[in-house]
Amino acid sequence: MKGKFPLDQFSSLCTPFYYYDTGLLQKTLDAIKQQLKGQEQFRVHYAMKANVNPKLLSIIKDNGFGADCVSGGEISAAILAGFSPQEIVFAGVGKADWEIELGLDLNIFCFNVESIAELRVIDEIAQVMGKVARVCLRINPNVKANTHANIATGQAENKFGIALQDLDKVLGVLTELKSIEFIGLHFHIGSQILDMSDFRALCMRINEIMDALESRGIRIPNLNVGGGLGIDYDHPNRQSIPDFEAYFDVYDTHLRLRPYQTLHFELGRSIVGQCGTLISKVLYVKEGVNKEFAILDAGMNDLIRPALYQAAHKIENITSQEALSSYDVVGPVCESSDVFGKSVDLNRVSRGDLIAIRSAGAYGEVMASQYNCRPLANSYFSDEFI
Ligand SMILES: *Cc1c(COP(=O)(O)O)cnc(C)c1O
Repeated sequence: MKGKFPLDQFSSLCTPFYYYDTGLLQKTLDAIKQQLKGQEQFRVHYAMKANVNPKLLSIIKDNGFGADCVSGGEISAAILAGFSPQEIVFAGVGKADWEIELGLDLNIFCFNVESIAELRVIDEIAQVMGKVARVCLRINPNVKANTHANIATGQAENKFGIALQDLDKVLGVLTELKSIEFIGLHFHIGSQILDMSDFRALCMRINEIMDALESRGIRIPNLNVGGGLGIDYDHPNRQSIPDFEAYFDVYDTHLRLRPYQTLHFELGRSIVGQCGTLISKVLYVKEGVNKEFAILDAGMNDLIRPALYQAAHKIENITSQEALSSYDVVGPVCESSDVFGKSVDLNRVSRGDLIAIRSAGAYGEVMASQYNCRPLANSYFSDEFI
């Protein structure tokens, strides 16, 4: 759909750049808020690691969402964007002392703790600071998600979380620690999950855990089910807003939430994924053996998902109206994995054409590097082009 992009304004901009459709972001946030209406027990935190572009953060914050952080840097970025510390949750297998101190200093809502070793360090630091750390235990629920192996996190073999069989031991340790307040359980089974039965399996597992804990008189005021809802990379126009109704309905239907519990979500990709596009220019069309290459001025340093996860983004020539032809679309970086797509049908490509790499709002700009001494791409927003 060529009408999506302000081509006249694009022609004066230095490529490559990220273009964000802030109208679509707002509609996406509205769709989530629509599902949360009347759900007093549900709370959504935006997973900062998907994209920390300050303008996007400020829009998300203004819509009343909390923040899910995985580093001290992300906590600082959240505070800078105006998120309240009481709305910040902090996860990650390897929190450094200074990051724990920062979280305690700011009085963030909770630390999602992934090991006994970490629990003891947080307790020690909190004690020295005269604070009490609110803690959720991140449990590895041993639920397999149908997604790429590099972004599945909820099985016993992954580094994340506390194994279910160790939960009793951890609960024992918790009773010894004076500067820790145990407030809940945290889960996250992976990312880019489109099969709702994966989330249903998580609900079932949480129900089992809750029944076991409740029968021993243990009350768990907070449950956090992480994020992971995927987006449609093949059809960014057809389904530009993820099916939040189906997603929240799984939890509404299958999780037996107690009246005293709050259910937290940490959505990243599903919030920002479709609103971002990487816009690039064709440098050369190169005749290879049996194929043609469209060589772009954007590379894996601008968008690493194809190289890192074999991810396929929809690629469009937004300049040309000519007949379709097949190209391997590649970047200029000196790595064989610097390929955005193979045998991609594009309107006949010429030097200077603008190429849109769609669905690049999540894990795009935030993962960019300066590899090969390439400068970081700029970002522009649809509401700047009126
Ligand atoms: C990455 C991550 C998320 C967000 O995942 P999305 O797939 O982008 O929704 C949420 N919680 C935790 C703990 C994560 O590591």
